Amino acid sequence: MSRAVTLIPGDGIGVDVSEAMRRVVDATGVSIDWDVQQAGAGVIAEYGTPLPDHVIESIRRNGVGIKGPITTPIGTGFRSVNVTLRQRLDLYANLRPARSIVGVPAPYRDVDIVIVRENTQGLYVGIEHEVIAGEAAEAVRIITRRASERIVRFAFEYARANGRRLVTAVHKGNILKITDGLFLRTAQQVAAEYPDIAFNDRIVDNCAMQLVQRPHEFDVVVTTNLFGDILSDLASGLVGGLGVAPGANIGDGIAVFEPVHGSAPKYAGLNKVNPTAAIRSGAMMLRHIGETEAADRIDAAVARVISDGRQVTYDLKASRDDPSAVGTREMADAIIAAL
Ligand code: NAD
Repeated sequence: MSRAVTLIPGDGIGVDVSEAMRRVVDATGVSIDWDVQQAGAGVIAEYGTPLPDHVIESIRRNGVGIKGPITTPIGTGFRSVNVTLRQRLDLYANLRPARSIVGVPAPYRDVDIVIVRENTQGLYVGIEHEVIAGEAAEAVRIITRRASERIVRFAFEYARANGRRLVTAVHKGNILKITDGLFLRTAQQVAAEYPDIAFNDRIVDNCAMQLVQRPHEFDVVVTTNLFGDILSDLASGLVGGLGVAPGANIGDGIAVFEPVHGSAPKYAGLNKVNPTAAIRSGAMMLRHIGETEAADRIDAAVARVISDGRQVTYDLKASRDDPSAVGTREMADAIIAAL
């Protein structure tokens, strides 16, 4: 029997990496009925919105989705489709593993960190307005006990289910005493319910420095939305960059997988960028629907192609100008051959 999964290819490089992901997942033999839905700037003329209701309905119906990145205009234009999607489906946990892969040029070899980012509130939600036109503007940062409690609980449950030993709560409670004070106090209370998992906390700026200098001291990191956005890109840099970093947005009974990276418009349509992040997101999706063996095979095939080092994109070469780098499609072909 086929499993229906919503696929939003996205735009920019999303189109290339989503196609690569789909071909690799199909090549495992798992029968997926791809329910392809379009979102982003390209559908505004037809539907009057970058995120039509039928796209949300498709994900609700299927319970599982996977998406490519979608461009968000800077400083003007429509609200981020990604933020709206996470809010409308209450995908409250953004799970972003950063694990070293042999053969990927990176500052460290054996990093294994999971960033758990609160996905529905905080500064990243973008509640803001002008106070005096052109002169002063204000953004609102809402933190609730409920959202803090469920994200920290998610982090501890994840730690327990995956044999992890330490959860670190990251905050700026020295300056944002009320909002991050609430987040930290809530985290400490939840931590007390999990005596089998160690707990500590870090102030976000110090955490950024420690992640760079001593990444091995981190295991599961749980934090608010904007800090999680920034730290997860930092963590991806520790293991080889955005080209290899997968992610998942998880709610109750619903999940949408996506690479950490964005739509990198300058590379759109060039068949150039690394499909690994999208393909590994596909493996996370397969694991989520119980297709563990297929997911393991993809992860192993990706590792094999990368450690072999010949059929990889420019960002995985020692020199980014290496003429032997292959394109997105060709790297996906190599991964399929290695399955
Ligand atoms: P980006 O992640 O698109 O690109 C930053 C740089 O990272 C690129 O120039 C490239 O050098 C590198 N990179 C990214 N993906 C790569 C890949 N697969 N292989 C190799 N190198 C890769 O970030 P940005 O330029 O800040 O954002 C571009 C657009 O993407 C913006 O509109 C932003 O809003 C959007 N965005 C969307 C999502 C999402 O849909 N979830 C996430 C982040 C950014």
